Amino acid sequence: MKCPECRKEMQEGVVQSAGPIFFTTKEKKNWLFPNLAVKDEILLSSRNWVRPTCRAYCCANCRKVVLEYEEPKNREKGRAARKK
Ligand SMILES: [Zn+2]
Repeated sequence: MKCPECRKEMQEGVVQSAGPIFFTTKEKKNWLFPNLAVKDEILLSSRNWVRPTCRAYCCANCRKVVLEYEEPKNREKGRAARKK
């Protein structure tokens, strides 16, 4: 992936956390879990029960990180597949 600022190739990796990683337009007191009923909160991480992880691309020059997230239905598929 090319950096949106400098257009150089970004370093591929992951962002991980002890809890679910989510995007929200408003900071809030209960920041541990996203409210998925609200449109402006998006769960970004998958593998949330064991190791919340997002695929990510980093540009150290511009200090930018771009995250990728999956459609919620794909996340559920992954979880169902692991249970079998
Ligand atoms: Zn850059």
